Amino acid sequence: MAEPKYEPEKVEIVADGLHIVWKDGLDSLLPHRYLRGNCGCAECIDEMSRVRQVKVDDVAADVRVEDYLEVGRYALGLLFSDLHQTGIYPFKRLRDLADQGQGTALDP
Ligand SMILES: [Zn+2]
Repeated sequence: MAEPKYEPEKVEIVADGLHIVWKDGLDSLLPHRYLRGNCGCAECIDEMSRVRQVKVDDVAADVRVEDYLEVGRYALGLLFSDLHQTGIYPFKRLRDLADQGQGTALDP
């Protein structure tokens, strides 16, 4: 099993973003637009070059996470209000995004 650090205890969609409480106690809020702009799917990151095609600045300011589903025991699939739903966000990546701070894009 993964380290507690990489396991969410609680996930909820709130007004400002995705609220995740991790099993090691970290309480994080990932803003909607920040998540959308850090999507790791093949549409958002070119599969060949690994160059990010969609960045935070490219998505609508009012984009929202509308829904999520658990993918196995390792990731969340997020459905955004712009109908983008191909992004799978592994827990580790969500945690790295939370640790990194908010508003900057991580490398793919
Ligand atoms: Zn994507």
